[in-house]
Amino acid sequence: MATQKLVCIVCPQGCALEVDVEAGTVSGNTCKRGELYGLAETTNPTRTLTTTARIVDENGDFVDMAPVRTSGPIPKGRLFDAMKEIDALRLRKPIRRGDVLIADLLGTGTPVVATRDFD
Ligand code: SF4
Repeated sequence: MATQKLVCIVCPQGCALEVDVEAGTVSGNTCKRGELYGLAETTNPTRTLTTTARIVDENGDFVDMAPVRTSGPIPKGRLFDAMKEIDALRLRKPIRRGDVLIADLLGTGTPVVATRDFD
């Protein structure tokens, strides 16, 4: 039997879901979003990645850390590799919120963008 129990994290209510993976059904959800979350989480779990990237000066010396995030969710199993790719970034000022820092993270089609200005 392929039933999985998980907590819905879409909103603070935190409904206890039970997903029958074979049948593709979800119980315990209070709303449709929970059903969609339960099915996605048991078949292709994804996460939006929020982290920081290094800013360096013209000599390549560390200056600051810039908050960045993926512009959408990526497969959960690729988060570690995504962190490595972002960790390799060496950004230069000025940086504008919304600047695309990596156009296609790990071939997922998802960009990494800056979330703050640095002058
Ligand atoms: S099922 Fe709906 S109400 Fe329950 S935690 Fe998920 S989003 Fe919130």
